[in-house]
Amino acid sequence: MAKNIQAIRGMHDVLPDSTPHWQYVEQVIKEVMSAYGYQEIRLPIVEKTELFKRSIGEVTDIVEKEMYTFEDRNGDSLTLRPEGTAGCLRACLEHGLLHNQIQRLWYYGPMFRHERPQKGRYRQFIQLGVETYGIPGPDIDLEILLLTVRLWQRLGILEQLELQLNSLGTTEERLVYREQLVEYFSRHSEQLDEDSQRRLTSNPLRILDSKNPKMQTLIEQAPILMDFLGEETKTHFSQLTEQLEQLGIRYTLNPRLVRGLDYYSKTVFEWVTDRLGAQGTVCAGGRYDSLIEQLGGKPNYAIGFAMGMERLLSLLEESAQLPEPHPVDVYLIRVGEKAELAGFKLAEKLRSELPNLKLLMHCGGGSFKSQFKKADKSGAEYALILGEDEVIASTVSIKPLRSQQEQQNVSHAEAVELLKQALR
Ligand code: ATP
Ligand code: MG
Repeated sequence: MAKNIQAIRGMHDVLPDSTPHWQYVEQVIKEVMSAYGYQEIRLPIVEKTELFKRSIGEVTDIVEKEMYTFEDRNGDSLTLRPEGTAGCLRACLEHGLLHNQIQRLWYYGPMFRHERPQKGRYRQFIQLGVETYGIPGPDIDLEILLLTVRLWQRLGILEQLELQLNSLGTTEERLVYREQLVEYFSRHSEQLDEDSQRRLTSNPLRILDSKNPKMQTLIEQAPILMDFLGEETKTHFSQLTEQLEQLGIRYTLNPRLVRGLDYYSKTVFEWVTDRLGAQGTVCAGGRYDSLIEQLGGKPNYAIGFAMGMERLLSLLEESAQLPEPHPVDVYLIRVGEKAELAGFKLAEKLRSELPNLKLLMHCGGGSFKSQFKKADKSGAEYALILGEDEVIASTVSIKPLRSQQEQQNVSHAEAVELLKQALR
């Protein structure tokens, strides 16, 4: 026998048992996005490799070792998108969406990174991305955070998440800080791991993002970027934090929050939970004004975030905030030759008159008993039974499956009414 082919490591199927959970969260996301006037943008999954190198930064985990890059048949170097910000900005620049315009956008879909698969870390994973362009802030920074708060509230997990905030300053401010940081880490170079040794010259801020537990004490004692920020940046940040306080939104300052990508400036944030082990960041983002020029646009403003959907779903599961799946309301049983087509006619009538009804038609024949067993197993609230007698009398029998109520024989019109009342 031929050997079964399995899915690629770190790339998961979502099976029918869990798709209702995904659909539920996706529905809430759509409602929250439209409540803030954000529009959906749909982007390709593959982009030119150059786009990610230029935007994410050459000396980042993603570009150094995580990208799925390949040559297509024309010899062009293409990459499966590891994140959505670069593609979103590319599309906006390409289609002139940033000419004297403000944009509030969101997208949703798979991202690809060749990481070591573990809980909360996959090679194909889904992100919700939100990006806004054209607003210097900090008002839009606040709006973005309020939008995430509302999402957590709607999903019932606000209490499980902590908002961590930092400001990365401007490019100039970071340059001064960088020198100090290099000096500090050089003094302790014997404590740096291999990755950090390399980053000391190429991208020292990234050392602060190290997940290596042995490096944490050294990192905690490093100089703090906040001490190197100029007046304008400080005002931007303090306005944001004051407004958060006035609105009763809790946050913690995390001076070591630098984010894994190069393009951030000023406000950066993460929503973190302690309920998911090491992979506790569910949502992360910040301001990235300078990326627009880096990709060939005119000076402009940008802030956005990405949310890891698998981590979000794990957190909802942990917190018992996922609704029970409920795939079927009614299971239609047909017995006897006369009921075969009559069953389809009745089913189509019910589907037309009750557009929200979930009706599963039994197919494949079998005795009444075996069909009834399947009806029970389907989770349906009601079995509709159509035998030859019912067909002749133009009626249908309704049998409640989850209560002790009696079976009733009713006209088709009465069946519509009964179901309408019962499934409200
Ligand atoms: P981490 O520090 O966990 O590697 P990151 O800084 O690389 O995260 P971002 O690029 O900011 O993550 O992505 C935003 C969010 O997407 C993360 O906070 C996380 O929820 C999710 N995410 C990132 N990488 C993965 C992955 N490999 N598998 C599942 N979710 C991921
Ligand atoms: Mg990462």
